[in-house]
Amino acid sequence: MTGRKRILTGIRPTGALHLGHYAGALENWVRLQHEYECYFLIADYQVSDYADDIARVRESVWEVALDWLAVGLDPEGSHYVIESLVPENAELTALLSWFLPLSMLERNPTLKAEMEALENPVDGQAERKPVPVAFYNYPVMQVANILLPRAHLVPVGDDQLPHIELTRETARRFNRRFKEVFPEPEALVGRVPRLVGTDGEAKMSKSRNNAIYLKDDAGTVAKKVKRMFGGPPRGANEAGVAAENPIMLYLEAFDPDREGFAGLKEQYERSGIGNAELKERLTAVLNGLLEPIRDRRQRYAANMRAVREALEHGSCRARETARETMAMVHDALDMNYLERY
Ligand code: ATP
Ligand code: MG
Repeated sequence: MTGRKRILTGIRPTGALHLGHYAGALENWVRLQHEYECYFLIADYQVSDYADDIARVRESVWEVALDWLAVGLDPEGSHYVIESLVPENAELTALLSWFLPLSMLERNPTLKAEMEALENPVDGQAERKPVPVAFYNYPVMQVANILLPRAHLVPVGDDQLPHIELTRETARRFNRRFKEVFPEPEALVGRVPRLVGTDGEAKMSKSRNNAIYLKDDAGTVAKKVKRMFGGPPRGANEAGVAAENPIMLYLEAFDPDREGFAGLKEQYERSGIGNAELKERLTAVLNGLLEPIRDRRQRYAANMRAVREALEHGSCRARETARETMAMVHDALDMNYLERY
């Protein structure tokens, strides 16, 4: 046992990881991985919207693990966990849902928006789907994910904040009514709370085909940047608003030359700079960022047995913690029926 406080955070195995994950979440995970005992979760119970494509989920478990290794999350010091290898996640979901009023899910703005997107997909990108019960319930499962290792901190993108509020509320209710079992976890939002998509959509997302992936090669990055939405139309030498142009937003997020970027932004907003020039700079910036990540990914991809070991050990360790917590929960709820006689 370590005396460190705990982090629980996760990602759904629905595809490889992109720049939004990096700036919104992974950067913080990497930074805090030694200060906290970390449980990094691959949330494979929460893919009901991909139920007709389990092959993709299966593949993505490895993609996500490889991306984690590639950005520098050390599986020796932290736990890589596959959710379904810790079935206590499902058990705790069932028990905690006793205490959550339906109205709290009905009001959850992220859930509302995601259900709306599921039912009304962007033209031609996906078929219209009815919302599965499991999808409606996924925030409760996320509450269980966080409470199961009794986590203190949850570093995430800002779309997850309503779920963490739900977690805090659940912990408070449970502790007050039964026994003090759960710490009330804090959320920690990344440097870029919500990175826009290459198409100018509010969120870069695996499901929206508007992402630049951490594993994209240099040519793919160049091509995607070339096709990026560059804000409202402007004439040559016409000033623009940086916040309205995703190219400028990406430079703001990732350009390591902060002084150079500040000058560029000032000029952009005063006398204008053409998108072609900005795109050239952005391509170089992104490839500079992604090159070492791609290299590391390749090295790990050549040794998938080591990746498997990371997942196996991490899940095993998470299960021990989960069993501890479930013993506390059963005790608090007075559910040890067989001990009576
Ligand atoms: P999906 O579209 O399948 O839901 P996703 O891209 O939203 O996938 P998740 O697995 O739902 O990915 O999210 C994992 C983590 O990454 C969460 O903490 C989420 O807030 C963060 N994240 C995802 N996309 C972005 C983004 N564009 N900007 C900032 N953070 C993000
Ligand atoms: Mg999501």
